[in-house]
Amino acid sequence: MALEGAVLELAEAFVSELIGRSVQLWTEGSSMPIGAVQDLVVDGREEYPPVTGLYIKCRDGVIRYAPFSAVRSLTDKAVILSQPPHDAKYERAADDELLLNRELLDKQIVDVDGRKVVRVNDLKMAPTGEHLRLIAVDVGLAGLLRRLGLHGLGQMWVERSARPGLRQSLISWDAVAPLAHVRPGDAVHLRLPQDRIERIHPKDLADIIEDLNAKDQATLLSSLSEETAAEAFEQLDVDQQLSILEDLKPDRAADILENMSSDDAADLLGEVEPDVQQQLLGLMEPEEAQDVRELLEHPEDTAGGIMTTEFLSVPLGSTIAQTLEHIRNSAEEAELVYYVYVVNEHEHILGVLSLRDILKSTPEMSISEIMNTDVVTVPVTASREEVATTIARYDFVAVPVVDDNGVLRGIITVDDVIDTLLPERLRKMIPRVGKSRQKQPKQQERGRG
Ligand code: ATP
Ligand code: MG
Repeated sequence: MALEGAVLELAEAFVSELIGRSVQLWTEGSSMPIGAVQDLVVDGREEYPPVTGLYIKCRDGVIRYAPFSAVRSLTDKAVILSQPPHDAKYERAADDELLLNRELLDKQIVDVDGRKVVRVNDLKMAPTGEHLRLIAVDVGLAGLLRRLGLHGLGQMWVERSARPGLRQSLISWDAVAPLAHVRPGDAVHLRLPQDRIERIHPKDLADIIEDLNAKDQATLLSSLSEETAAEAFEQLDVDQQLSILEDLKPDRAADILENMSSDDAADLLGEVEPDVQQQLLGLMEPEEAQDVRELLEHPEDTAGGIMTTEFLSVPLGSTIAQTLEHIRNSAEEAELVYYVYVVNEHEHILGVLSLRDILKSTPEMSISEIMNTDVVTVPVTASREEVATTIARYDFVAVPVVDDNGVLRGIITVDDVIDTLLPERLRKMIPRVGKSRQKQPKQQERGRG
């Protein structure tokens, strides 16, 4: 027999208000209190998830379950059931379900459009036909006040306030991606198609990651593609990277390290325990691992420790056409595409060309005709200051690093040493562009209501 739909005598409701509401059982024409609402289960597959059941804390202290079809009516005062709740474990029964009280309230979520991490202060529900649906997340002050039991105050605040920020604290449910843990130990699932997260700029993604707690940080990184995760990871400072690294599975950590530029990966691996360092290097692609191993041999504050091994070089006999082809093929991995270094068969540096030099020339020309042969280099042992002064003096974007035998070992780009040249106060004020390991002072957030 099909049950008649529940009578929902609510215009709208907040989960904070539904939790604790009296639950009564309808028998023979009257209703009897049996407990209070403990949690609401929704079907997370739908755009605006409908409530599929309730967990009820019964008077004997046991939490039981009632499917939403057992709800006879739902009013501002009580939930009336037409059937008694039954025994069930207080946990989600399917991966697509969400427990609103246990899993969402007070948790952090990513607001994909606003590119922020927000705290779920409350959840707004609305009756739609026979369903009660989750329609929005309240991230504002009013929601927080409601949670704290200062409902009247919150309401008054919202109504009286002329500030639009307070009202706009509701985020439509379809715009959020909860970092909901499926089961203890399981990976977190993002509700939104991943590509919406991945379209966020790495710097913004890094800000989001910074705002998450350690566990969610690891979870978010695990759910991104290796490339995106690595890009975002590079933007974090080493301390933060280290704390996340601890929560990542070694395989995943190695995947991310592989996709980072070798100098950033070496900086990070230089900070971890030797056995962890060896383990992670062992899990990385041999070629990438080798680059990082080389960098780790050099003291951190010398040219050898700062440089990246991902640079562009071509053999002496190359034509402009071949050089352009090489740039095109290596553009993805190279730290810098603006300079191409010319080397002989022993990797000795013979010349350098800028992209401008190359673009100005015709395809069949030989690079030896146009390259600069008077190449300025720094030794692997040079100090950070020496490197910075050299780059500044010549106004280069990068400087090549050579070992005792004149072999080209790496390059150092200006953004990796510019800090050294700036007085500390100024350094802190400068918004960082490109690859950065220095954390910006956090902006005070205002006007979020
Ligand atoms: P310009 O400043 O003349 O417009 P550009 O914009 O092409 O040149 P810059 O980065 O200013 O490029 O470099 C100037 C020149 O210096 C380029 O021709 C480049 O090949 C050369 N160059 C780059 N690195 C070195 C180096 N390490 N030693 C010597 N010359 C270099
Ligand atoms: Mg120039």
